[in-house]
Amino acid sequence: MELWQQMIRDSIHTVDQLVEKFNIDRKVAEELDEFFQARINPYYLSLIRYPGDPIWLQCVPDVKELEDLDGYEDPLLEDAMSPVPNITHRYPDRVLFLTTSQCGMYCRFCTRKRKVGNSDKISMRQLESAFKYLEEHTEVRDVIMSGGDPLMLTDTMLEKIIKRIRQIPHIEIIRIGTKMPCVLPHRITPKLVEMLKKYHPIYINTHFNHPWEITPESTKACQMLVDAGFPVNNQAVLMKGVNDDPQVLKELFLKLLKIRVRPYYLFMADETRGANHFRTSLDKGLEIMFALRGNISGLAIPHFVIDAPGGGGKIPVLPDYILHRDEEKIVMRNYQNKIYVYREAKNEENKIEVEISGNDNGKLPKPKKLKKSAKAVVSEYEIT
Ligand code: SF4
Repeated sequence: MELWQQMIRDSIHTVDQLVEKFNIDRKVAEELDEFFQARINPYYLSLIRYPGDPIWLQCVPDVKELEDLDGYEDPLLEDAMSPVPNITHRYPDRVLFLTTSQCGMYCRFCTRKRKVGNSDKISMRQLESAFKYLEEHTEVRDVIMSGGDPLMLTDTMLEKIIKRIRQIPHIEIIRIGTKMPCVLPHRITPKLVEMLKKYHPIYINTHFNHPWEITPESTKACQMLVDAGFPVNNQAVLMKGVNDDPQVLKELFLKLLKIRVRPYYLFMADETRGANHFRTSLDKGLEIMFALRGNISGLAIPHFVIDAPGGGGKIPVLPDYILHRDEEKIVMRNYQNKIYVYREAKNEENKIEVEISGNDNGKLPKPKKLKKSAKAVVSEYEIT
């Protein structure tokens, strides 16, 4: 057994352990276990500095999970967009491929609670319909292996899957979505890296949310991946009490850059059942993005997005930099709230097309198309 597997085996996961270690009432611990089981491996546990800190919040079950009745089981409609088991096909040229239900840690905010934690192993035979789908759909050029965490698979199983995907000529890129560099960096072994290197181009999308997660161990794991030629990008989630502070995210993004991990996305938290207590207002996110832009390198600034409920995909959101726009000029503010004017080019390109799709999460049957001149009338503007 490899060290990382031993650490999985030594994780906190039983009701007795939750009661003993975190002083959770037994009845509540039982209900939480039923709702979404815990897995806190010894490495991630060692990052906790005090009860209720940003690391604790991400991994220790909380009674608030049971009080949230508003959230959705599957906020992104991944199951409805699944043409065959284990595949979600939302965007034209890329698919999500779920290869395991296991993770190195069970994050309390997880959007795939409905799928994750089930100990049933997925066999190559069960993945056959997914491979067939990939073979038949020549428009798919990018496969995002996710889960659960694909790096919970053994090297042998992982190689079988990747090898099979690589036999499909139109698949250009494989992405591995994994939280292991953050939650169990010991999984990134020389053997794993040597195996994966044979199947380039492979991109790694990882998931750090707080600067305390950047440790000597996670730094080493990311460096091994980058040195082996895998571009490593980070997808963070904005969460109350964890990282909803410009200073915390600034530190996280700068530290990620230093270990050669590119901050790629910052997500608003999904409307997942049991995770409402992590959600922040959009204004909070915009305020943080405004505080970051201009003050740190653009390389350290991720795309700030909302993954639209109902399967609408990722929608980028930006603070309002344009204060006024008409046929002649654009009035903007910069990161220091200073005002600048850009003169519009005088040509037909200034026409924009506007599509109105209503306000019910994209479910209106027939959107109307309007042609409209780009004209915003703002008589006054004020910076506060
Ligand atoms: S690693 Fe990802 S899939 Fe697994 S519990 Fe955490 S957020 Fe969910």
